[in-house]
Amino acid sequence: MSQSINTKCVQAGYTPGNGEPRQIPIIQSTTFKYDTSEDMGKLFDLEASGYFYSRLQNPTCDYVAAKIAALEGGTAGMLTSSGQAANFFALFNICEAGSHIVSSSSIYGGTFNLISVTMKKMGIDVTFVSPDCTEEELNSAFRDNTRAVFGETIANPALTVLDIEKFAKAAHAHGVPLIIDNTFPTPVNCRPIEWGADIVTHSTTKYMDGHGAAVGGAIVDSGKFDWMAHKDKFPGLTTPDDSYHGITYAEKFGKEGAFITKATAQLMRDLGTVQSPQSAFYLNLGLESLHVRMPRHVENGQAVAEFLAAHPAVAKVNYSGLPGDKYYEIAKKYLPNGGCGVVSFELKGGRNAAMSFMKKLKLCAIETHVADARTCCLNPATSTHRQMTDEQLEAAGIPAGLVRMSCGLEDKADLIADLAQALED
Ligand SMILES: *Cc1c(COP(=O)(O)O)cnc(C)c1O
Repeated sequence: MSQSINTKCVQAGYTPGNGEPRQIPIIQSTTFKYDTSEDMGKLFDLEASGYFYSRLQNPTCDYVAAKIAALEGGTAGMLTSSGQAANFFALFNICEAGSHIVSSSSIYGGTFNLISVTMKKMGIDVTFVSPDCTEEELNSAFRDNTRAVFGETIANPALTVLDIEKFAKAAHAHGVPLIIDNTFPTPVNCRPIEWGADIVTHSTTKYMDGHGAAVGGAIVDSGKFDWMAHKDKFPGLTTPDDSYHGITYAEKFGKEGAFITKATAQLMRDLGTVQSPQSAFYLNLGLESLHVRMPRHVENGQAVAEFLAAHPAVAKVNYSGLPGDKYYEIAKKYLPNGGCGVVSFELKGGRNAAMSFMKKLKLCAIETHVADARTCCLNPATSTHRQMTDEQLEAAGIPAGLVRMSCGLEDKADLIADLAQALED
């Protein structure tokens, strides 16, 4: 029976049996006991499914991963300790020294650094392309050793909206998967797999948790990418893994299971960035109301964006729900119910105006965070990007007077009143 995303937010991933807990149990145990060595051996050989050590898998984390996979419409999912770990695993599961990635240039700063600095040190190259590039520009970024294409549905913090179909078409024409970080819209507002994405990642730290309570990440596989059809490109999935009893993941687990099984059995085994069962429990509490919260975040984001766009002290507002925004048309296609609650805007008075405006805010707190229940804001020029000069900031598309505001779940009239008093001279 196919279910609405609203129902999946509440119930997917865990179905208790007779007399079992209604809420997902927190299995706070590092290890699991077996009667015989033969039983345990089958688990190690991936011949039977079951648990033996929580660095690899834990039931609480698996319930929540299954829920996120159901929300995205994928075939398998896993949790990671953070969004950073999710994006690293998604890429490193199919890239190695000598590989190349094509990535949208408009992505989260941490991911930009991961790909352009840390993965570069591992011998993995990248070509960044504008999310607004033409098909020709996109196609010309590929090389023989390209193994993945990466982008964000709504980029943090630039708020660009990705043409997922354009990126999927180019990736598939070159025989590689498209990986989409879907953190900002969440599957409630966009499901990239429906538009051709092969792998979806999340920083669950943001809207999925939604209460600023637990750092975490997730990876979902669409089960659609045919690794065996591109055998030479993905030897890690299509040839025997000597470090895992000679298993060939794509043969043994098929298109539906190979990617997540390899990421778990190999990357999680060796790198160990697990989410704790306790964090997964908090994450699940957030997911239970995600479909109720996202429309409110969008409503507040839209109202704040409209108020700011009409204010004389404001030079520019970036929000894809505003008619006239560069991404308004594309957002109508990919985000028909709205995107998220994050708005960015530039004050006419530049850096000093941004600082004095933020000092006067009462409801909206200054934080290096986005996407939780409480409204917060940040001036990149005086915080995350403070090493840059005003000229460098301008060139990077982050003017000194830019404020990023994440609209929470408060009443929009109160948020607007707070902004209005803070914008008064
Ligand atoms: C925050 C964020 C990340 C990193 O996630 P963490 O949970 O902080 O590690 C990755 N991608 C996007 C789009 C983000 O907003």
